[in-house]
Amino acid sequence: MALMTAQEYIDSLRKLNTRVYMFGEKIDNWVDHPMIRPSINCVAMTYALAQDPQYADLMTVKSSLTGHTINRFTHLHQSTEDLMNKVKMQRLLGQKTASCFQRCVGMDAFNSVFSTTYEIDEKYGTHYHENFKKFLTFVQDNDLTVDGAMTDPKGDRSKAPSQQADPDMYVHVVERRPDGIVVCGAKCHQTGSINSHWHIFMPTISMGEADKDWAVSFACPTDAEGMYMIYGRQSCDTRKMEEDASIDVGNAKFGGQEALVVLDHVFIPNEYIFLNGEYEFAGMIVERFAGYHRQSYGGCKVGVGDTLIGAAALAAEYNGVEKASAVKDKLIEMTHLNETLFCCGIACSAQGFKTKAGNYQIDLLLANVCKQNVTRFPYEIVRLAEDIAGGLVVTMPSQTDFNSDTVVGRNGETIGEICNKFFAAREGVKTEDRQRIMRFIENLCLGAAAVGYRTESMHGAGSPQAQRIMIARQGNIQGKKQLAKDIAGIKD
Ligand SMILES: Cc1cc2nc3c(=O)[nH]c(=O)nc-3n(C[C@H](O)[C@H](O)[C@H](O)COP(=O)(O)OP(=O)(O)OC[C@H]3O[C@@H](n4cnc5c(N)ncnc54)[C@H](O)[C@@H]3O)c2cc1C
Repeated sequence: MALMTAQEYIDSLRKLNTRVYMFGEKIDNWVDHPMIRPSINCVAMTYALAQDPQYADLMTVKSSLTGHTINRFTHLHQSTEDLMNKVKMQRLLGQKTASCFQRCVGMDAFNSVFSTTYEIDEKYGTHYHENFKKFLTFVQDNDLTVDGAMTDPKGDRSKAPSQQADPDMYVHVVERRPDGIVVCGAKCHQTGSINSHWHIFMPTISMGEADKDWAVSFACPTDAEGMYMIYGRQSCDTRKMEEDASIDVGNAKFGGQEALVVLDHVFIPNEYIFLNGEYEFAGMIVERFAGYHRQSYGGCKVGVGDTLIGAAALAAEYNGVEKASAVKDKLIEMTHLNETLFCCGIACSAQGFKTKAGNYQIDLLLANVCKQNVTRFPYEIVRLAEDIAGGLVVTMPSQTDFNSDTVVGRNGETIGEICNKFFAAREGVKTEDRQRIMRFIENLCLGAAAVGYRTESMHGAGSPQAQRIMIARQGNIQGKKQLAKDIAGIKD
């Protein structure tokens, strides 16, 4: 099958029997649910852009497995140029959606599981790599979206999986059969889980021998028997359920999505297993997936940052202050921070290298530096956007008020007329446009999209300390001490 169109992707979701719960109830038509649909539109954009000749070079690529044209989101990176194109593609998607477009976790899982399974097979003579190649060929040929499921609930963070009071705190094998395994547990914070066709499950930490049953990686369809999802709340999410609130939502078309994914005795046939007890490889999958995902943020968050910088510049223009040197300087600072993140994404890609399995991996140190900056810079960009926009971002009446015919003034003015009068700014600028840009900024800084732009920048792909541990490991302080000794003339 060729590349799917955006509409075919949306229609394909309707055919799945995905079990979705929200506000304590099962949602049957989740594809059209007003709180979920924006996140589906976002993933649909990864399909739509792949159909656009303007973006063909960035969005599509020749498969290393089949030679067919595939969506880059299903690709195994074959060069440092591929790695850089990945980051550029993510920036583009961020610019087009101003949201988390969710399909990156699967792409990062493909590349890390591909190279790790090769090395497990090399050591143990297992067949995980062949299993994975067959699975990925199926994904590429059908242009599927796959969730990369890594983060377990983790219970007591000071204890290993096998030491937890409740063994389900990490996904684990509860039964081994000749034809496969049965797994239990859950994954938290799963981005794009509901609107993915399949999931790849991976361990979330390095493991020891006692954790063998928890050292497991596999693929399974999103509607597998025993699997269900509970939808994650986002700030201001129920605005999407209100009538007449498309401006108040801030970004009515696009949004991100996270869910708790539960595995309640799910059977996984042998052909979909990529790790099953080889505990010493759990850490390798984690490190590689986290590395790719930390690179990803040097693209996606930058694209979203572009839209926020643009919105702040518009807010300044609508307020009549765009020529003030202090405002210009703030926009320069926002741009500087945003482009620094992009530099990091491109740098860790340009310094990438070939794995034993043949695909390309990013430079781990630089990818961790990239993500460490991502845990900080979007927060400063948000601070500057709020500074430029003014307090109206959080104090403006609702769209219903702006549209209201209720008379309040002595001369018969309606609530709508009063709002339009007092929230007008520069002459020639429609109050509604000002309203739209303020809500857009609110959405990214404090609303539903802040999930993807702020908190995901902090914790997604690992909390800041996880990067600092990797920077400590990769930073080669010993080598740097030697450099200093050599020049300072210190002999051991
Ligand atoms: C918006 C969003 C989207 C996400 N999407 C995905 C996804 O698609 N797939 C996926 O697999 N995951 C996803 N994640 C999960 C993300 O990787 C985790 O949030 C991250 O690894 C942190 O885990 P946690 O949230 O459980 O926080 P915790 O592990 O509870 O960490 C909280 C704090 O405690 C510290 N801490 C934790 N353990 C220890 C310890 N043993 N010793 C000392 N300090 C410790 C951390 O450094 C951190 O500062 C997403 C997260 C967010 C917020």
